[in-house]
Amino acid sequence: MLPVDTQRIIEQHGIKYVLAQFVDIHGAAKTKSVPVTGLKAVAEDGAGFAGFAICGMGMEPHGPDFMARGDLSTLIPVPWQPGYGRIVCIGHVNGEPWPFDTRYVLQQQVQRLKDKGWTLNTGLEPEFSLFRRDAGGKLQLVDASDNLDKPCYDYKGLSRSREFLERLTEALQPVGFDIYQIDHEDANGQFEINYTYSDAMESADRFTFFRMAAGEIANDMGMICSFMPKPDPKRAGNGMHFHLSIASATNKNLFHDASDPSGMGLSKLAYHFAAGLLAHGPALCAFAAPTVNSYKRLVVGRSLSGSTWAPAFVAFGANNRSAMVRVPYGRLEFRLPDAGCNPYLVTAAIIAAGLDGIERQLEPDFVCNENLYNLSLEEIAARGIKTLPQSLKEATDALAASPLFREVLGAEIVDEFIRQKRMEWVEYSRHVSDWEIQRYTEFF
Ligand code: GLU
Ligand code: MG
Repeated sequence: MLPVDTQRIIEQHGIKYVLAQFVDIHGAAKTKSVPVTGLKAVAEDGAGFAGFAICGMGMEPHGPDFMARGDLSTLIPVPWQPGYGRIVCIGHVNGEPWPFDTRYVLQQQVQRLKDKGWTLNTGLEPEFSLFRRDAGGKLQLVDASDNLDKPCYDYKGLSRSREFLERLTEALQPVGFDIYQIDHEDANGQFEINYTYSDAMESADRFTFFRMAAGEIANDMGMICSFMPKPDPKRAGNGMHFHLSIASATNKNLFHDASDPSGMGLSKLAYHFAAGLLAHGPALCAFAAPTVNSYKRLVVGRSLSGSTWAPAFVAFGANNRSAMVRVPYGRLEFRLPDAGCNPYLVTAAIIAAGLDGIERQLEPDFVCNENLYNLSLEEIAARGIKTLPQSLKEATDALAASPLFREVLGAEIVDEFIRQKRMEWVEYSRHVSDWEIQRYTEFF
């Protein structure tokens, strides 16, 4: 028998099929559809997958099955797909949790916090771009009139894409997303939806569901909802900032201290955590900005609207949106991650870096409240501020050179991640781009 609560959700929403869902190393949702009669078996033994068919699972075609074992407490209906539910799983192989499953990697880090009586709360801010394909298969903006140089918060831009935004909002609200703001962002065709924070695991599960919802609702409307980090080289990219705070067992925000002399409202614990993020910034970058395209977002330079809003330097600032770690007040905002990241891996790496900062009692070097976009590279260097990796190769090399993540997150997942990212870099490097053809064909 299924627990009463599970049975109630199934009946209330008329669930006939359940998507047993996990993510691959890139954070892309993978599923099997399970008739509801099979749900109990998924919760107890798991749904079976050929692990070799899944990116980055560290499995071979001649090995045992990857069993995605569902956590019944995560069962929710899939509002855009009536009759369906979704349950989030952790991969098991031979009855043991599998160290290549990034949700399991995060679960381990969450446990390290729990052992101290702490919960990491994360508020994720997904940004995305809406496109359609024209007859020739080229990507075009859905709204051709969305062409301002400074499109951020524009009324017309928001209004003309409202049908998609409403459908997405109304698909997420019934499953616990407390959506409080929706806006047009600083690139043409770019939007952001904000919802209330939750504990780190729930936030990662939600973001995965968010991308599933956005992708399918857009597809239904003949559009593409893209989480690609930098679709337009001259415009802002798709970030996914993480707002971070640690709650005590009594749900007190341990990052907040009103007596902080800086006025940022931060506790000692928060400073140590931030310093951990800064100390591991370049290696963290590989997880937070995990694609070749991500580094076109983290550029040193301007965009057409005046700013990229994405960090290029390892800096810590008060309300400074040009810094990698910003302090809105009494919590941290980590601005490095982009919308193309695996939320489980990034959160696990944030915990690893933050706890290292706490254990070693690190402090940020200084609070940088200058507009970093206006400083020259010489001025940045004179202040002792490091530049973030400027390519996937640099970031992967920084990760490979850092002992912390391998030791804390596990050699299996970190080595596999590095292997995948090096392959991606080689593939990209061997590709001959339009830029090269234009520049070199008749150059000599
Ligand atoms: N789009 C920006 C980024 O790539 C962030 C804009 C904002 O601060 O909301 O990080
Ligand atoms: Mg934004």
